[in-house]
Amino acid sequence: MPPVPENVVPVLLPIPADRPYSYAVPEGMKLVAGDIVAVPLGPRTVIAAVWDGETDNVDPGKLREIEGRFDCPPLDAAMRRFVDWVANYCLAPPGMVLKMVLRAPGALVPLEPMEGIVYSGREPERMTKAREAVLDLARDGLAWTRSGLAHAAGVSSGVVDGLMAQAVLSRIEIPAPPVVAPPDPDHATTELSDGQAQAADALRKAVEADGFSATLLEGVTGSGKTEVYFEAVAAALKKGRQVLILLPEIALTAAFLERFEQRFGAKPAEWHSDVSPKRREQVWRQVATGEVRVVAGARSALFLPFEELGLVVIDEEHDPAYKQEDRVFYHARDMAVVRANLTGVPAVLVSATPSIESRVNAEAGKYGHIRLAERYAAAELPEIKVIDMRRSGPARGSFISPVLIEAMKQTLEKKQQSLLFLNRRGYAPLTLCRVCGHRFQCPDCSAWLVEHRFRRQLVCHHCGHSEPVPEACPECGALDHLVACGPGVERLAEEVLHHFPDARTIVLSSDLLGGVSRLRLELEAIAKGEVDIVIGTQLVAKGHNFPAMTCVGVIDADLGLANGDPRAAERTFQLLAQVTGRAGRTGAASTGFLQSYQPEHSVIAALAAGDSESFYAREIEARRQAALPPFGRLASVIVSAASRQEAERHAREMRRAASAHAEISVLGPAEAPMALIRGRHRFRLLVHASRRADLQGWLRQWLNAGPKARGSVRVQIDIDPQSFL
Ligand code: ADP
Ligand code: ZN
Repeated sequence: MPPVPENVVPVLLPIPADRPYSYAVPEGMKLVAGDIVAVPLGPRTVIAAVWDGETDNVDPGKLREIEGRFDCPPLDAAMRRFVDWVANYCLAPPGMVLKMVLRAPGALVPLEPMEGIVYSGREPERMTKAREAVLDLARDGLAWTRSGLAHAAGVSSGVVDGLMAQAVLSRIEIPAPPVVAPPDPDHATTELSDGQAQAADALRKAVEADGFSATLLEGVTGSGKTEVYFEAVAAALKKGRQVLILLPEIALTAAFLERFEQRFGAKPAEWHSDVSPKRREQVWRQVATGEVRVVAGARSALFLPFEELGLVVIDEEHDPAYKQEDRVFYHARDMAVVRANLTGVPAVLVSATPSIESRVNAEAGKYGHIRLAERYAAAELPEIKVIDMRRSGPARGSFISPVLIEAMKQTLEKKQQSLLFLNRRGYAPLTLCRVCGHRFQCPDCSAWLVEHRFRRQLVCHHCGHSEPVPEACPECGALDHLVACGPGVERLAEEVLHHFPDARTIVLSSDLLGGVSRLRLELEAIAKGEVDIVIGTQLVAKGHNFPAMTCVGVIDADLGLANGDPRAAERTFQLLAQVTGRAGRTGAASTGFLQSYQPEHSVIAALAAGDSESFYAREIEARRQAALPPFGRLASVIVSAASRQEAERHAREMRRAASAHAEISVLGPAEAPMALIRGRHRFRLLVHASRRADLQGWLRQWLNAGPKARGSVRVQIDIDPQSFL
């Protein structure tokens, strides 16, 4: 047997293995932990990272060599610990977490310098008018691109080529420009109110002190939280550190980027799925090399390899969009706090309606708690009025109550804006045949097809399946007897058009044709007052500043309460407070209307009274009583398979294999409320644990010892689940 080569290192591969593999380091190659390398795996070459820890006892005959090291800064120790930590907490293979880090492969090689040309000082053999025009410009001594110079001189690029051939112009390399200009912490400082200044001071101190801290910055919508945390960003920049700002719907927050630019003189680097792959590679590289100082990004920005991170801000920290429920299931807010902790820097969590988890942490003193009590300047929060739909509802077949119509009319007369909020895309959530009662259902999901009248289609909101709206019922053949049941935003638009034929009305939902760029334009138009009535789904609820908006109507305030999951009350409270918070941001008196069939429900009552404190007190107490998060812990196990039988059988076998534990109990299996998604049948088990129990350890043991998933069966683990569908 050949001896084990001296130089063997553990390498973490982007595959679902539970530990790093060993590879030999070729002679002459110097490697440190965190280096990004290319290694052979079967017949392929994959990008991986040199990891920590011991190497396995490997058979030297099987040991393969690392193919190459990328010219790229290594992932630092804090980043590597973060990857391991997330994997361990979320019960995901560490390589799959690393895969989220290495998502921009083009970033691993240095950016190509651009080719530039400069004037060499020589004169051409023969001068022409065109050459003269070129040299007039080039004599400034600065570098030009070939086409840029020709264009500016108004000549063909052949003229430039001719001068290069005679060495009048010579080639140089221009380093790739930074993707964004460096932000200047002193560019345009904001005059803060007393309350804001105190809050900013506290955050600044946290940044200036070395080490981890977590602070909840809580203040009503419009209180100036953004202005305040910008001061923390400035402090981190002054300290020479980089900053990560997480935002849930960054693609739609063009206004945020502009505000940042006003304050810091340059935009932050954006990171989200609508940024082009090429641009993402540039951002990744420059985050790693330190040229990018501030990133504003969606949850995946959490896995960027900052060179010198100094502050993490999680804006709208309560937002459900921070939970990823795909491949690696993780909550970006919680993992952001972990990353700050492992890096030894402050985390700031920002919200008008904090999550119960963050409020409990703040009240327990685990997090600092900074509060902004009122809106900035003269702006008042909207007055909230509940419309009791049992008594004051609209006529059958309509959805906007007379009180709300009247308020919209007055708003229109005052040349102000109204917003109607309904969290349902399309025309109607259910279509049925009046003759035989046939309901249109998705062939692959347990969900009704939603009619989208603008597109003349029936669409599944879970898998995207769509079919044209038929003229005849597919079951009984009756012609023209399909009826729409219940409202979607498109149907509301029809009703608004009936009442306000001359108003400028717009429907905003995520399926708008034209995608994100169109949505950005529409949001801008609303902010500029070019629209009278906005009808929208939850994407209008998020952080936007609409100065002329003074009337907000929630069409179905009870919608989220019917969900019956442990977070229904919290979610509804947050969403409705955020939606009504779009009103009255600039001083004019404003009103939020909640159409409800259960006005006495504690969530609706707390919103009506503007009493968030009593809501939090009651909800926290209810969670404590039931040992629900954060007083106890939950994990979902989702078993899916091609057939219902297979899924159920495996779920039951798992249940039987669960070992008894005094602090951990398993509920289920039960067929999931979404029993079928994309053709896969689903069963759920819910694991409930006390805070003391080692939930992850127990789960790991259960998964290792329990039945192995065979055939089409798949098992997904969701720690701290947010969705129970
Ligand atoms: P929040 O993030 O709490 O919703 P913002 O930071 O967006 O609040 O502030 C709401 C509005 O008030 C914004 O238009 C902002 O520019 C303005 N504002 C807040 N504080 C100040 C301040 N100190 N000086 C000038 N404008 C401010
Ligand atoms: Zn479907």
